[in-house]
Amino acid sequence: MTAAHTASYHRHEQTTGAHAPSAEQPGDTSRALAQAEVICRAHGVRLTRIRRTVLEALCSSHKPLGAYELADMLAPNARRMAPITVYRALDFLMEQGLAHRLASRNAYIATVGSDGGQETVAYLICEACGGVEEASSAAFAGAMSDLLSRAGFEPAAKVLEVAGRCPHCRVQGPGRH
Ligand SMILES: [Zn+2]
Repeated sequence: MTAAHTASYHRHEQTTGAHAPSAEQPGDTSRALAQAEVICRAHGVRLTRIRRTVLEALCSSHKPLGAYELADMLAPNARRMAPITVYRALDFLMEQGLAHRLASRNAYIATVGSDGGQETVAYLICEACGGVEEASSAAFAGAMSDLLSRAGFEPAAKVLEVAGRCPHCRVQGPGRH
């Protein structure tokens, strides 16, 4: 398996261990890919090599990635993958609930191996480091369902995007005194 890691996105090396990026560990990526295979089999669709490669890149990044960024990353022997190919793969991954497009960033994240697939989830997007964390709770899911049923609204996705600063950047940011 080829590691699709680009330069480490994590500039905060001296962590106390409290803020460990979970999505960057190779073990997590292979677990997520195995889970994606199971989901695709259950849906009767194929996780082709290209789709798998795109998903792998998303899984191993701690930051959301744009389609062009993905195309550049997935350039074996300097031959860039056509953006249309990447878009098709991304569409597939989203249809299967394996990836999500962050509308506010026009960038994609993997949702397989997490709660993001079909669940009610808040994406906490750090404007300083670009990192994205998922947050969810039963109370949040309940409140969202309640709100939607009162509005008589049928959701295609129950996702909330919150922009701001992650705990790490709040501590290390220039605004600290
Ligand atoms: Zn941050």
